Amino acid sequence: MAQVQRMSRLMVKTLRDDPADAETLSHKLLVRAGYVRRNAAGIWTWLPLGKKVLDNISRVVREEMDAIGAQEVLLPALLPKEPYEASGRWEEYGDLLFRLKDRKGGDYLLGPTHEEVFTQTVKDQCTSYKDLPVMLYQIQTKYRDEARPRSGVLRGREFQMKDSYSFDTTDEGLAESYRLHREAYIKIFNRLGLDHRIVSAVSGAMGGSASEEFLAPAAAGEDTFADCPNCDYAANTEAVTFELKAVEETHPAAEDIATPDTPTIETLAAQLGVPASATLKNLLVKVDSEIVAVGVPGDREVDLGKLGEHLAPAVVELVTAEDFEGRDDLVRGYVGPQGLAKVRYIADPRVAPGTAWITGANKVDTHAKNVVAGRDFEVDDYLDVVVVEEGDPCPKCGTGLKLDRAIEIGHIFQLGRKYADTFGLDVLGQQGKPVRVTMGSYGIGVSRAVAALAEQSADDKGLCWTPEIAPADVHVVAAGKALQTELAVDVAEKLGAAGLRVLVDERPGVSPGVKFTDSELIGCPKILVAGRRAGDGVLELKDRRTGEREELTVDEAIARLTAK
Ligand code: ATP
Ligand code: MG
Repeated sequence: MAQVQRMSRLMVKTLRDDPADAETLSHKLLVRAGYVRRNAAGIWTWLPLGKKVLDNISRVVREEMDAIGAQEVLLPALLPKEPYEASGRWEEYGDLLFRLKDRKGGDYLLGPTHEEVFTQTVKDQCTSYKDLPVMLYQIQTKYRDEARPRSGVLRGREFQMKDSYSFDTTDEGLAESYRLHREAYIKIFNRLGLDHRIVSAVSGAMGGSASEEFLAPAAAGEDTFADCPNCDYAANTEAVTFELKAVEETHPAAEDIATPDTPTIETLAAQLGVPASATLKNLLVKVDSEIVAVGVPGDREVDLGKLGEHLAPAVVELVTAEDFEGRDDLVRGYVGPQGLAKVRYIADPRVAPGTAWITGANKVDTHAKNVVAGRDFEVDDYLDVVVVEEGDPCPKCGTGLKLDRAIEIGHIFQLGRKYADTFGLDVLGQQGKPVRVTMGSYGIGVSRAVAALAEQSADDKGLCWTPEIAPADVHVVAAGKALQTELAVDVAEKLGAAGLRVLVDERPGVSPGVKFTDSELIGCPKILVAGRRAGDGVLELKDRRTGEREELTVDEAIARLTAK
């Protein structure tokens, strides 16, 4: 079927200059090449070229989801409050949720993700173990009132997501549904041509593969991940663990030392002439209403997000001056774990049993040295709580980790029975008794993938799509003269008839320079130019990515472009 799009009739207005508000490459290029148009912060129109790319990605996603036996459905985006109230997310989502009222005053929301409604759907449709397992997906518009909807379609407030959900009666079944999704995602991202890494999203504590993210390395990414240059280890920085290893060393007895005016690690280290790493920093936090101390080496920062994950559902907050009232055991700036009998002490595994530290002596202007973990103080819980840094050892092979930026393009998650518990999702089991269903939830940022692909593949001339995703297979450019236009249109028709998707630039009165620049900016994988040698029936074929050029006759060009 011929698919020939004439540029003269295509609604596309390319821009020479970057939009003023654009920070990332994909944002600049997708606007400049006429793929998207901004309506409001994080709200975008997909123009004809952009819609084609978006649809191509959706098609690949659909094919691979169908291939694992997932069934496509379409749930509403406009949803009643009740299911989200039942799960607690009506409140938990806070400002991220778009809430609205209908004419009768009823509360509604625009769906940010659909676990609740899928659970209800399956509860309604599936009653017996024979109805399971089932995997359902949709490609749908999601709404999140993101705090920072920058970066164009990378982070929209309205965006396209493929979300799927698996329903099984056993943990093994869930593991299998998860595996199927993982495999499908790898195929999808490979077909899209997205360079990606699979990283564990949570630390080992929650059970290894229960949640993984698919990250596309890119400078514009908002996620940082740890990547081992030596082995296959890659993890979200929040999931990196440090091995707890006791050390066998003998240290002299702990002793207090006068350290006037040293309320910070920097002042202390400077006064004593030691590196900050020789000191033990004790951060006081409030866990729900209890004061807890967190010990980390003085040169490291506590990652409050990580700490929060470890202690959830308890809420972690920093202490305020009021919390010290009536607590003579807590001397601000001079806290040391050796004097904290009444306080729960959490430490990073770097504060291993046997290690010696300089730390607060629980007296103003005084520190203590040779304070040994396991001898002078006990650690109640060892938790990975420090901010991971470049060069930290790989938990798998010990090599120094690299930290890289990436875009989260997908997320797979073994949810378990959380939502099934909320909605009482049971099916009748083999023994005639009800069985609680276990679920998985799996997302792909379809619109975000457009931007991620643009980020990874663009060059200084513009966008540069892979064949599966490009708005057309070939962009035919007529340099300008009547003869050239005739040849360009003729070859375009023939390529279309041969089954290729063709964009042909036969715009009258547009200079060849502008047409060439536009063809590179728009980024179809092949550019075929009817130019200097059009009179001889010879065209120039250019590979958009490599820049390689060759002269071909019409027949040769068709043979070359239609060859599998
Ligand atoms: P992020 O940390 O980037 O906000 P998330 O963890 O909130 O992502 P999920 O809730 O797991 O994301 O959503 C599934 C997928 O949807 C993500 O992997 C991502 O690709 C995509 N996505 C999430 N938020 C947005 C957004 N605001 N704009 C575009 N795509 C998004
Ligand atoms: Mg988010």
